[in-house]
Amino acid sequence: MGSRCFVSLRSTKRIQDIHALSTRRIHASNTAQFATPLDQPVSTQAKKSKERLVILGSGWGAMSLLKGLDQTRYEVMVVSPNTYFAMTPLLAQAATGSLELRTTMEPVRGNHNIHFYHAWTEKIDLEKKTLTLMPAYPPVFRQKDPTSTNHYPNAREYSLSFDKLVISVGAYNRTFSTPGVRENAWFLKDVQNARAIRWRILECFEQADHPNLTDDQRKALLNFIVVGGGPTGSEFAAELHDLLSSDLKRLFPDIVKFASISIVDASAGILNNFDASLATYAREKFARDGINVMLNRKVKAVERGNLVVEPDGEIPFGLLVWSTGICASPLVKRTNSIAKDDGNSFFLTDDHLRFVEDVYAIGDCAQIQGKFLPATAQVASQKGKHLAHVLNGKMGEDPEADEKVFKHRDMGSMASLGSGSAIVDSPNAKAQGRIAWVIWRSAYTYMSLSWRNRLLVPFFWTINRLFGRDLTRF
Ligand SMILES: Cc1cc2nc3c(=O)[nH]c(=O)nc-3n(C[C@H](O)[C@H](O)[C@H](O)COP(=O)(O)OP(=O)(O)OC[C@H]3O[C@@H](n4cnc5c(N)ncnc54)[C@H](O)[C@@H]3O)c2cc1C
Repeated sequence: MGSRCFVSLRSTKRIQDIHALSTRRIHASNTAQFATPLDQPVSTQAKKSKERLVILGSGWGAMSLLKGLDQTRYEVMVVSPNTYFAMTPLLAQAATGSLELRTTMEPVRGNHNIHFYHAWTEKIDLEKKTLTLMPAYPPVFRQKDPTSTNHYPNAREYSLSFDKLVISVGAYNRTFSTPGVRENAWFLKDVQNARAIRWRILECFEQADHPNLTDDQRKALLNFIVVGGGPTGSEFAAELHDLLSSDLKRLFPDIVKFASISIVDASAGILNNFDASLATYAREKFARDGINVMLNRKVKAVERGNLVVEPDGEIPFGLLVWSTGICASPLVKRTNSIAKDDGNSFFLTDDHLRFVEDVYAIGDCAQIQGKFLPATAQVASQKGKHLAHVLNGKMGEDPEADEKVFKHRDMGSMASLGSGSAIVDSPNAKAQGRIAWVIWRSAYTYMSLSWRNRLLVPFFWTINRLFGRDLTRF
């Protein structure tokens, strides 16, 4: 899921400093800028006719909530550092040129009757029902350290009050505190990451094509490593293999023989969340494709262009994509007024997706107490849809009503394995190969949020099939 980790961590101290310097001026300017001052308690606003519902985040949870929400019932405000929704299941394809980046994004503004703030939520005050927001950075191509300062130097925080709040801020990439990962590896959590990876793959080939390099130097530059053999890492490796064996083979016929792809995992298998027969099918397909699966490995460090792993030692690479699961976002870590798990990883809600009256959390940043569910788009969007029904008042006025209890429907898992093959593991059926691939493609075309992308996704698949991928670097 961000990326670069897509969200940055600001130290509380710094926020306080900025706040101390600028609070007066900010509040004054907000008052001038907005018809209703954002920091004024909603209850005291003169023209208050609707409750203000603030949604934090513009990912799967937030967008499925917005889709089902009766937006005429509330004054809806969305706060996110991303002005778009990212269609995460298609990011591996966008990173390897099978799809254009545009097809994996939906703009937040415009499609809904909402007010959008392009900002980070820095602080949640449940007692005063206010949020502290910091204007977000413009998009960055590739950050050195995604946890470092990520705001305009002159940005100033402001406050926003709410009547109802939905927190759906997702999660960060987990690195297990492995040295050098944030500085030297690439993440695949957001569209900006996909763009950076795509750029880097092509850069590796361009560099390796210079005549003054030795074969060993070429092999190092064209060694592509994926750490983490879950669905995201495996799908990326498979898509990369497709790119190498088709368009890059055509464009760089003399050097493509030096290219290699490896998946490195600490466990004894890949795609462990799938049925064992499907995981084996994937392993066999990867073996046929020449994707090197390295299991039971312990990554010690990621240096610049060098993976240090036990028991192999040092392995040089041109691109290393790190995909080993998720961890808590900084907002979750520093918000202590809300119940969390022992590991400080996510908010804990009740069965109604709620902490206290009027405050809810959905998606990767939250779990229901005692009912652990996987951190997937499926769960996030089901929770968002359920919450929309609750907030629309379709389930009656009683906040404790049984029908307001969230029930997860397991729709199964899918993973694309490249070259027209996939695996599908659903409670009703299992499929592999071409049939699974058709199901995978149909499902993700259909799941695109807009008709524009529902048309663009198959359009680009067809165009790329006919004419090859567009591999211009920009
Ligand atoms: C490459 C990839 C492929 C995946 N494939 C699948 C798949 O095939 N099937 C599946 O079910 N799941 C898949 N997932 C997992 C799925 O994407 C996540 O579970 C899902 O995105 C979680 O939704 P969310 O709304 O909780 O968070 P996200 O979708 O991550 O959205 C979080 C939002 O919060 C915003 N935000 C962050 N911090 C703040 C803040 N402080 N203030 C305000 N806003 C903030 C972010 O900018 C973002 O808009 C995939 C994930 C990745 C990365």
